[in-house]
Amino acid sequence: MDMNVSLLLREPIGSTREYDIDEVIDFTGEGKTENRIKGACTLLRTLNSVLVRCNLVTDIELTCSRCVSTFHLPLKIKFHEEFFPIMDVESGTPLPPPEEASSFTIDEQHNLDLTEAIRQYFLLAVPMKALCKKDCAGLCATCGKNLNQGKCDCPDNDIDPRWSKLANLQ
Ligand SMILES: [Zn+2]
Ligand SMILES: [Zn+2]
Repeated sequence: MDMNVSLLLREPIGSTREYDIDEVIDFTGEGKTENRIKGACTLLRTLNSVLVRCNLVTDIELTCSRCVSTFHLPLKIKFHEEFFPIMDVESGTPLPPPEEASSFTIDEQHNLDLTEAIRQYFLLAVPMKALCKKDCAGLCATCGKNLNQGKCDCPDNDIDPRWSKLANLQ
């Protein structure tokens, strides 16, 4: 997802560019999962960087941790990050590296590549524990039936916990 910012870097501080994003990215690099990313990014020229604000959405397929069914989840990817040029656009001379080594950079050809930033924020947005719905009933521990599709015939499931003590006394 390269954007050439050589013109933007020549413009005064405060200049902006808007980009509509509609891209398919393979975040794993294995060709197994591809995610269609849509939304918009704004690039803002600052004193010594380009500030990128992105507002993106995608849709991922997850496996529910309770009932193991697969489901789709819309995901918001929202961030702002500074990108630092490593080459002066006017003189063509190398610039000192950004203070923070982990900062995003703009390459010698003045290309700003959003892929890595989007990948990092995508991974942050993916929930650690996926549930197909808040009140997912999960699987019956005895017969393995998906209880979202109705009760199973296992006896334990029907007993109200308030009555189970009484049942033990009998
Ligand atoms: Zn579930
Ligand atoms: Zn059951």
